[in-house]
Amino acid sequence: MKKLLMLFCGTIASQMLQAQVRMGGDPKLSEIYDPAPAVISPGKTNAEAPSDAVVLFDGKDFSNWVGTKGKDVEWTLADGAMTVKRGSGLISTKQSFGDCQLHIEWRTPVEVKGEGQGRGNSGIFLMGRYELQILDSYNNKTYSNGQAASIYKQLVPLVNASRGPGEWQSYDVIFTAPRFSENGIMQSQARITVIHNGVLVQNNAAIWGGTEYIGIANYKSHGAKEPISLQDHGDPVSFRNIWIRPL
Ligand code: MG
Repeated sequence: MKKLLMLFCGTIASQMLQAQVRMGGDPKLSEIYDPAPAVISPGKTNAEAPSDAVVLFDGKDFSNWVGTKGKDVEWTLADGAMTVKRGSGLISTKQSFGDCQLHIEWRTPVEVKGEGQGRGNSGIFLMGRYELQILDSYNNKTYSNGQAASIYKQLVPLVNASRGPGEWQSYDVIFTAPRFSENGIMQSQARITVIHNGVLVQNNAAIWGGTEYIGIANYKSHGAKEPISLQDHGDPVSFRNIWIRPL
């Protein structure tokens, strides 16, 4: 009875407060104080990992990565960067991730070799499936949905914000994982926002499905969290300063 009375009074109070707000009453009525967002320390620059990030690569070792089929990583490590070793295969994070904010810096070789897809090709496979393309797209013509910052063979970037070969570039990614029902039916597509060298290139875009080289992408059910992979496409592309904030 007491509970019912409290509920009744609460409802009346809520309606009165709403009426006050409508009539231009106390501004505090529409202010939220609790909960307050967690306090974190941002990096000194926008590239530096904030205090709540998982640092995946800080230039020192491969401790957060595994090579193809669970082998040790065979990529080269020098000068605070790791570089694809041709033929050694892709590498993957030991930890799995779903919704996330990812910062990653990459560099295509200073010596320009090849053309189109054969120049400075690598890629970031979110959840091991959805490729955000890495390519030397500076004065290098290829299909638009295969250039740097494309979702490979799906989404064309809004602009080409590429720096030249041998220069460090960055991707800041906000990724929403796809959702699947218990019987494996896709309920909502993956979505991605990408900022390339400070420029918006993918704006909350819906991904069509897992990356396919031939044919149309489609969704196949997978875990809520999966490892992120970096591609060995045969070109010595380098990476540094990789951090992630699970959301
Ligand atoms: Mg690629």
